[in-house]
Amino acid sequence: LWHQVALYSTDTPSKDEEVVTGEEQVYEFKTETKRLLDIVANSLYSEKEIFVRELISNAADALEKLRHLQATETTETDKPLEIRISLDQDKRQFVIQDHGIGMTLEELNDNLGTIARSGSKSFLDKLEKDGSGSRENIIGQFGVGFYSTFMVGDRIKVYTKSAKPGSKGYCWTTDGQGAYSVAEADNVAVGTKIVIELREDCKNFASQLDIDAIIKKYSNFVGFPIYLNDTEV
Ligand code: ADP
Ligand code: MG
Repeated sequence: LWHQVALYSTDTPSKDEEVVTGEEQVYEFKTETKRLLDIVANSLYSEKEIFVRELISNAADALEKLRHLQATETTETDKPLEIRISLDQDKRQFVIQDHGIGMTLEELNDNLGTIARSGSKSFLDKLEKDGSGSRENIIGQFGVGFYSTFMVGDRIKVYTKSAKPGSKGYCWTTDGQGAYSVAEADNVAVGTKIVIELREDCKNFASQLDIDAIIKKYSNFVGFPIYLNDTEV
């Protein structure tokens, strides 16, 4: 924990917009996560579009986990099992939302703050062995999951609320520069919504035509409907 600051929002949000209400807690990323973020953000890897595939696959996993949980327990959601992507070219934003399992505060810290997951670990191990000359190949080979968002975004916001009864909503955000912050938030739907503030040189990922083609290229066999700007892909 770095420091705590009170956060006051001056914007008047629209009815369905999330509102940060809690104190913002700032945490430093783990050393290996920083390394990975640095590599990903400065990557010359040309297939940046794979971040779309990674986010869709995470959303599908989250929906699958919710379906599994609902088979045995009551959950606080009755929303459709679908994936919604919306784009805003003026704001240069890419947004993906699922009403899946969501994350508790602990899961947020564990899943997005560290690279406990095996894919990223083997990515760094391989990099260690092969040297930095081959890092672009290695990104392609291993995929970097959620962290691939940093190839295209200079700020990532994750709103999430676990489907487990009694869970609170949270806003997790970072510019990828060593630290992230988490705060309680109101108006967060069960599941996860990820907002990517796209870099100037990546603004094509707010284009409906481009994203439509990318979804069709990579995510043909996702077991849940995918909507792009409210139209099913
Ligand atoms: P992987 O999918 O291989 O586990 P990722 O880097 O893609 O690794 O994601 C890291 C973790 O973050 C996931 O395992 C999951 O626990 C969590 N996560 C990512 N996206 C979502 C989401 N949409 N809903 C719930 N949890 C998520
Ligand atoms: Mg993943």
